[in-house]
Amino acid sequence: MEIVQGVHQIKVPLPGAVDHMNIYLIEGTQGNLLIDTGFDTPEAFGALRDALKFSGFGFKDITVIAATHAHPTHYGLVDKLKQMSGAKVALGDIEAKFIDSRYGKNDLLLKQVKQLLTANGVPESEITELTEASMAVKQYTSVVKPDIILKDGDKITVASSEFKIILTPGHSPGHICLYEPKRKLFFSGDIYCRIYFLTSVFTHNRVLTPWATFLNHWRRCLS
Ligand SMILES: [Zn+2]
Repeated sequence: MEIVQGVHQIKVPLPGAVDHMNIYLIEGTQGNLLIDTGFDTPEAFGALRDALKFSGFGFKDITVIAATHAHPTHYGLVDKLKQMSGAKVALGDIEAKFIDSRYGKNDLLLKQVKQLLTANGVPESEITELTEASMAVKQYTSVVKPDIILKDGDKITVASSEFKIILTPGHSPGHICLYEPKRKLFFSGDIYCRIYFLTSVFTHNRVLTPWATFLNHWRRCLS
Protein backbone atom coordinates (compact mmCIF):
# COMPACT_ATOMS: atom_id res chain seq x y z
CA MET A 1 0.00 0.00 0.00
CA GLU A 2 1.43 3.38 -1.01
CA ILE A 3 1.05 5.44 2.18
CA VAL A 4 2.71 8.58 0.84
CA GLN A 5 4.05 9.19 -2.63
CA GLY A 6 6.76 6.68 -3.42
CA VAL A 7 6.59 4.96 -0.02
CA HIS A 8 4.98 1.52 0.06
CA GLN A 9 4.09 -0.06 3.38
CA ILE A 10 4.18 -3.85 3.30
CA LYS A 11 2.72 -5.98 6.07
CA VAL A 12 4.56 -9.25 6.58
CA PRO A 13 3.18 -11.94 8.91
CA LEU A 14 4.96 -13.04 12.08
CA PRO A 15 4.61 -16.49 13.66
CA GLY A 16 4.31 -15.25 17.27
CA ALA A 17 1.87 -13.28 19.39
CA VAL A 18 2.20 -10.18 17.19
CA ASP A 19 0.63 -11.13 13.89
CA HIS A 20 2.52 -8.85 11.51
CA MET A 21 5.11 -6.12 11.14
CA ASN A 22 5.54 -3.32 8.63
CA ILE A 23 8.41 -2.99 6.21
CA TYR A 24 8.79 -0.28 3.56
CA LEU A 25 9.79 0.04 -0.07
CA ILE A 26 10.99 3.49 -1.08
CA GLU A 27 10.81 4.24 -4.78
CA GLY A 28 13.69 5.84 -6.61
CA THR A 29 14.35 6.61 -10.25
CA GLN A 30 17.42 4.38 -10.43
CA GLY A 31 16.62 1.77 -7.83
CA ASN A 32 14.48 1.16 -4.80
CA LEU A 33 15.24 0.88 -1.12
CA LEU A 34 13.69 -1.79 1.09
CA ILE A 35 13.73 -0.98 4.80
CA ASP A 36 13.69 -4.18 6.90
CA THR A 37 12.57 -7.62 5.70
CA GLY A 38 10.53 -9.72 8.12
CA PHE A 39 11.31 -13.28 9.25
CA ASP A 40 12.62 -15.88 6.85
CA THR A 41 9.36 -17.82 6.58
CA PRO A 42 7.41 -18.90 3.49
CA GLU A 43 4.50 -16.76 4.70
CA ALA A 44 6.58 -13.57 5.02
CA PHE A 45 8.31 -14.22 1.72
CA GLY A 46 4.97 -14.77 -0.02
CA ALA A 47 3.44 -11.65 1.51
CA LEU A 48 6.39 -9.54 0.37
CA ARG A 49 6.31 -11.03 -3.14
CA ASP A 50 2.57 -10.38 -3.45
CA ALA A 51 2.83 -6.83 -2.08
CA LEU A 52 5.65 -5.97 -4.45
CA LYS A 53 3.63 -7.34 -7.35
CA PHE A 54 0.54 -5.40 -6.27
CA SER A 55 2.59 -2.19 -6.37
CA GLY A 56 4.11 -3.05 -9.75
CA PHE A 57 7.52 -4.28 -8.54
CA GLY A 58 9.48 -7.49 -8.51
CA PHE A 59 12.40 -8.66 -6.39
CA LYS A 60 14.88 -7.45 -8.99
CA ASP A 61 13.64 -3.89 -8.47
CA ILE A 62 15.11 -3.87 -4.96
CA THR A 63 18.59 -2.38 -5.17
CA VAL A 64 19.37 -1.72 -1.51
CA ILE A 65 18.07 -3.46 1.62
CA ALA A 66 18.65 -1.42 4.76
CA ALA A 67 17.92 -3.16 8.05
CA THR A 68 17.33 -1.01 11.12
CA HIS A 69 18.89 -3.79 13.22
CA ALA A 70 19.83 -7.44 13.02
CA HIS A 71 16.91 -9.02 14.88
CA PRO A 72 15.44 -11.87 12.80
CA THR A 73 12.23 -9.90 12.31
CA HIS A 74 14.19 -7.19 10.49
CA TYR A 75 17.07 -9.15 8.98
CA GLY A 76 15.57 -12.60 8.49
CA LEU A 77 14.86 -12.54 4.77
CA VAL A 78 18.05 -10.71 3.83
CA ASP A 79 19.83 -13.79 2.50
CA LYS A 80 16.94 -14.89 0.29
CA LEU A 81 16.18 -11.37 -0.96
CA LYS A 82 19.82 -10.67 -1.74
CA GLN A 83 19.97 -13.82 -3.84
CA MET A 84 16.76 -12.99 -5.70
CA SER A 85 17.40 -9.30 -6.26
CA GLY A 86 21.16 -8.82 -6.26
CA ALA A 87 20.55 -5.93 -3.84
CA LYS A 88 23.26 -4.56 -1.58
CA VAL A 89 22.60 -5.10 2.12
CA ALA A 90 23.15 -2.17 4.50
CA LEU A 91 23.35 -2.51 8.27
CA GLY A 92 24.68 -0.42 11.15
CA ASP A 93 28.31 -1.05 12.09
CA ILE A 94 27.53 -2.16 15.64
CA GLU A 95 24.83 -4.62 14.55
CA ALA A 96 27.08 -6.04 11.83
CA LYS A 97 29.47 -7.29 14.52
CA PHE A 98 26.75 -9.45 16.08
CA ILE A 99 25.62 -11.42 13.05
CA ASP A 100 27.92 -14.33 13.68
CA SER A 101 27.75 -14.35 17.48
CA ARG A 102 23.95 -14.28 17.49
CA TYR A 103 23.09 -16.48 14.55
CA GLY A 104 26.26 -18.36 13.70
CA LYS A 105 28.61 -19.53 16.42
CA ASN A 106 26.84 -18.37 19.57
CA ASP A 107 28.56 -20.38 22.32
CA LEU A 108 29.98 -17.20 23.88
CA LEU A 109 26.60 -15.45 23.80
CA LEU A 110 24.92 -18.39 25.55
CA LYS A 111 27.68 -18.42 28.15
CA GLN A 112 27.16 -14.69 28.81
CA VAL A 113 23.40 -15.11 29.09
CA LYS A 114 23.85 -17.96 31.54
CA GLN A 115 26.28 -15.91 33.64
CA LEU A 116 23.91 -12.94 33.70
CA LEU A 117 20.92 -15.06 34.71
CA THR A 118 22.95 -16.79 37.42
CA ALA A 119 24.31 -13.49 38.76
CA ASN A 120 20.78 -12.14 39.00
CA GLY A 121 19.46 -15.04 41.02
CA VAL A 122 17.55 -17.07 38.44
CA PRO A 123 16.90 -20.54 39.96
CA GLU A 124 19.19 -23.29 38.69
CA SER A 125 16.18 -25.28 37.48
CA GLU A 126 15.27 -22.53 35.03
CA ILE A 127 18.71 -21.49 33.83
CA THR A 128 18.98 -23.81 30.82
CA GLU A 129 15.53 -23.09 29.47
CA LEU A 130 15.93 -19.32 29.84
CA THR A 131 19.46 -19.33 28.44
CA GLU A 132 18.30 -20.99 25.26
CA ALA A 133 14.93 -19.25 25.06
CA SER A 134 15.85 -17.06 22.10
CA MET A 135 17.54 -19.79 20.07
CA ALA A 136 14.28 -20.81 18.42
CA VAL A 137 14.33 -17.71 16.22
CA LYS A 138 17.65 -18.68 14.62
CA GLN A 139 15.74 -20.69 12.06
CA TYR A 140 14.08 -17.50 10.80
CA THR A 141 17.14 -15.39 10.13
CA SER A 142 20.15 -14.89 7.87
CA VAL A 143 23.82 -15.26 8.66
CA VAL A 144 24.83 -12.80 5.95
CA LYS A 145 27.43 -10.06 6.25
CA PRO A 146 26.25 -6.64 5.04
CA ASP A 147 27.77 -5.06 1.93
CA ILE A 148 27.37 -1.53 3.27
CA ILE A 149 28.27 -0.61 6.84
CA LEU A 150 26.31 2.38 8.13
CA LYS A 151 27.44 4.75 10.84
CA ASP A 152 25.65 7.51 12.69
CA GLY A 153 25.32 10.50 10.32
CA ASP A 154 25.83 8.50 7.11
CA LYS A 155 23.38 9.00 4.26
CA ILE A 156 21.55 6.72 1.85
CA THR A 157 20.35 8.40 -1.32
CA VAL A 158 17.34 7.16 -3.28
CA ALA A 159 16.60 9.47 -6.22
CA SER A 160 15.93 12.91 -4.71
CA SER A 161 15.49 11.52 -1.21
CA GLU A 162 18.45 11.47 1.14
CA PHE A 163 18.02 9.39 4.28
CA LYS A 164 20.14 10.30 7.26
CA ILE A 165 21.23 7.44 9.50
CA ILE A 166 20.57 8.08 13.19
CA LEU A 167 22.09 5.71 15.71
CA THR A 168 19.43 4.77 18.28
CA PRO A 169 20.82 2.06 20.59
CA GLY A 170 18.56 0.56 23.21
CA HIS A 171 16.20 -1.98 21.70
CA SER A 172 19.31 -3.39 20.07
CA PRO A 173 22.84 -2.06 20.66
CA GLY A 174 23.36 -0.73 17.13
CA HIS A 175 19.78 0.05 16.14
CA ILE A 176 19.49 2.80 13.52
CA CYS A 177 16.62 4.94 12.25
CA LEU A 178 16.38 6.46 8.79
CA TYR A 179 15.25 10.07 8.47
CA GLU A 180 14.50 12.00 5.30
CA PRO A 181 14.37 15.69 6.38
CA LYS A 182 12.95 17.22 3.20
CA ARG A 183 9.79 15.11 3.35
CA LYS A 184 9.99 14.48 7.10
CA LEU A 185 9.89 10.72 6.67
CA PHE A 186 11.09 8.79 9.70
CA PHE A 187 11.55 5.04 9.76
CA SER A 188 11.90 4.01 13.37
CA GLY A 189 12.38 0.23 13.26
CA ASP A 190 11.81 -1.06 16.77
CA ILE A 191 12.91 1.89 18.90
CA TYR A 192 9.44 2.21 20.36
CA CYS A 193 9.27 -1.51 21.10
CA ARG A 194 9.31 -2.37 24.80
CA ILE A 195 11.96 -5.12 24.47
CA TYR A 196 15.03 -2.95 24.68
CA PHE A 197 17.04 -3.74 27.75
CA LEU A 198 18.60 -7.18 27.82
CA THR A 199 20.12 -7.10 24.35
CA SER A 200 22.15 -4.04 25.30
CA VAL A 201 23.64 -5.42 28.45
CA PHE A 202 26.37 -7.55 26.93
CA THR A 203 27.64 -5.19 24.33
CA HIS A 204 27.89 -2.25 26.64
CA ASN A 205 29.52 -4.70 29.01
CA ARG A 206 27.89 -3.23 32.06
CA VAL A 207 24.33 -3.08 33.21
CA LEU A 208 23.91 0.57 34.07
CA THR A 209 24.43 2.34 30.75
CA PRO A 210 21.68 1.10 28.40
CA TRP A 211 18.82 3.09 29.93
CA ALA A 212 20.68 6.39 29.78
CA THR A 213 21.97 5.64 26.30
CA PHE A 214 18.55 4.66 25.10
CA LEU A 215 16.88 7.80 26.49
CA ASN A 216 19.55 10.14 25.14
CA HIS A 217 19.24 8.77 21.63
CA TRP A 218 15.48 8.76 21.86
CA ARG A 219 15.53 12.46 22.77
CA ARG A 220 17.74 13.08 19.76
CA CYS A 221 15.19 11.42 17.50
CA LEU A 222 12.33 13.44 18.94
CA SER A 223 14.21 16.68 18.40
ZN1 LIG B 1 13.89 -5.82 17.14
